[in-house]
Amino acid sequence: MYKISKDTDGIILLCHDCSHVERINSFNESLGSPRTQAARAMQNHSREKHGAGSLLKPIPKNLRGRGAAVTSGTVAIPRQR
Ligand SMILES: [Zn+2]
Repeated sequence: MYKISKDTDGIILLCHDCSHVERINSFNESLGSPRTQAARAMQNHSREKHGAGSLLKPIPKNLRGRGAAVTSGTVAIPRQR
């Protein structure tokens, strides 16, 4: 999680759990909303550094790359022949 604050450089996102900071000014507007990018970067930081949950449900690593659409509920994994 993070909180939004403001300093002389503009709006910044402050990590709740450490001193990590994302500065909205440091993101390139040509790539989309800097604020959205900063929020995403902070979510990634929280997940990677603190194991925090995300609004974007992460797909478990062991299910990635199998081409399966993961939905809620039971996922049937075909048995090997
Ligand atoms: Zn942090």
